[in-house]
Amino acid sequence: MKILVVEDEKKVASFIKKGLEEEYYTVDVAYDGKEGLRLALSDEYDLIVLDLMLPFKDGISILREIRNEKISTPVLILTARSSVTDKVTGLDAGADDYLAKPFSFEEFLARVRALLRRHSNEKKNILRAGDLILDTQTHKVFRNNIEIILTPKEFAILEYLMRNKNKVVSRIKLIEHIYEYNFDPGTNIIDVYINKIRNKINLSKGEQIIKTIKGAGYLIQDD
Ligand code: CA
Repeated sequence: MKILVVEDEKKVASFIKKGLEEEYYTVDVAYDGKEGLRLALSDEYDLIVLDLMLPFKDGISILREIRNEKISTPVLILTARSSVTDKVTGLDAGADDYLAKPFSFEEFLARVRALLRRHSNEKKNILRAGDLILDTQTHKVFRNNIEIILTPKEFAILEYLMRNKNKVVSRIKLIEHIYEYNFDPGTNIIDVYINKIRNKINLSKGEQIIKTIKGAGYLIQDD
């Protein structure tokens, strides 16, 4: 699951990003309203965490614009403002939930889970490729009913490949998915992760579930 955090306070943004990544979510951060809107309009996210007071463009304007564009990604507003009027304005503009700062991270996570659950009908929770099963809600992976323990980044890569099963996924796409969008594309970090995942999911020496397509990327095939 990929989450966009639009927050101009660097400390708060990095705290949220780190906390979400520990819970197996993939996170992009935008530090101002313009960048936030640009990323939100890409429609690549499962959830948007949105601050209201932002440089260049405020959160309510971002919300109105993405709803105008028929992007239905759930939005959790996170802000220091907590008056009833602010809450009503936010919800009327198309927000799904509202949390006032300072907040408890546990409550924040519970709200994130609830929003993702409510919106998960459109996206399947359980992904399958042969006898490999990945649960995007509980973050568990099984092969032949044996649980496989993956790190958050390994999980994010496998989830992305399984969501795009029967399609070749390029290294650049994977880097963009699991890292900041400005990550160095020349790195071989993805190959390193793929090897680690393969070592964990291959129960015996046999056919690779994750195939390398030379010069193109990786593929999980499942008919
Ligand atoms: Ca702010």
